[in-house]
Amino acid sequence: MRAKAQRMMPPMEYVRLEDEASGLDGVIAIHSTARGPAAGGCRFWTYSDPKAAAADAFRLAEGMSYKNAMAGLPFGGGKAVLRRPTGSFDRRALFEAFGRAIEKLDGRYITAEDVGTSVSDMENVAKATRYVAGKTAHYGMAGGDPSPWTALGVLEAMKAAVKTRYGSTLSGATVAILGVGNVGGRLADLLTEEGARLYIADIDPLSCARLSERTGAKTVPLHQITSVDAQVFAPCALGGAVTATVGANLRAGVICGAANNQLASADVPNMLNERGILYAPDYVVNAGGIINVAAEYLEESQEQVHGRVMSIGPRTQLILEEAKLRGVSPVDVADAMAEQKMRFPDMATA
Ligand code: NAD
Repeated sequence: MRAKAQRMMPPMEYVRLEDEASGLDGVIAIHSTARGPAAGGCRFWTYSDPKAAAADAFRLAEGMSYKNAMAGLPFGGGKAVLRRPTGSFDRRALFEAFGRAIEKLDGRYITAEDVGTSVSDMENVAKATRYVAGKTAHYGMAGGDPSPWTALGVLEAMKAAVKTRYGSTLSGATVAILGVGNVGGRLADLLTEEGARLYIADIDPLSCARLSERTGAKTVPLHQITSVDAQVFAPCALGGAVTATVGANLRAGVICGAANNQLASADVPNMLNERGILYAPDYVVNAGGIINVAAEYLEESQEQVHGRVMSIGPRTQLILEEAKLRGVSPVDVADAMAEQKMRFPDMATA
């Protein structure tokens, strides 16, 4: 959930996905096409019912509009959420059916990976449509798994946030990471290279064990990750990790992570501000993946992706410093910037 109760604009389009033969069951939400086709990944996850999946798709699609605008990409915001079948299923057939559904939208929605999907899934989607990225990368060109780019962007944003909040670097800093999957795991590796010390927690004990062995990170129980003695809390699992209770008890002075929709309710940003906790807005810091996806779709190079991802650090710093200067939440500053870019798409550049 984003922090503001009021959305700038309602979701424009909702496409129900159903294919009995393959087990495809989900939704594509298109929030905005003001800047271009709606781009955003495909989440493949367990949802209790279609309503829960649709609600998640809308929130995520809205976030993509803000994220793409903030990153200066010529795309609007959309997202696909597919319910993972409970029994056995043919993964290839399911993602091909998803591709056929995307094709029917005539390019209004472009998909890629998100939680639960992979490069091979996108290759299967591509058998039925060209409106897909996150496929196998070709030498020097953008493409492939977006997660490493997301992790790099989060790292650069975290450097900016730690500098703004503590006046120091990540060397010797302690970071608590919740969720050590594709992005969280890679972020842990990058942070270790920077000389940071890590606490980690995940519902999957095996992921923690592997990462601990590789980086020396200390695994803690899930309920302790928000109260460990760390400078930074990095939510890298699913959304809603920063609740009012977490905000009230957090010891870290910085929140900066990869997860979408980190703030659980609208009262959290002000509470964080009052407690002197610097929140780096999720959609600003986790844009690395969609930057890579967009560049693949536009047939650009890895070098171009690298330049744009590295600009996430200075952009984050600008937002955090302005928020500090004005005594407001960084969410307010970022939302105003993104909304400006949505209203006047031609004036916004990368
Ligand atoms: P992933 O599925 O590879 O990793 C998610 C991890 O979180 C897994 O290890 C999972 O076990 C863990 N997890 C799930 N629920 C949890 C819970 N309740 N408590 C603790 N751990 C839990 O996904 P990812 O690609 O690494 O994405 C992580 C987050 O970053 C998601 O919110 C995603 O939307 C966001 N994101 C990802 C990208 C990308 O490029 N992959 C880009 C932007 C944003």
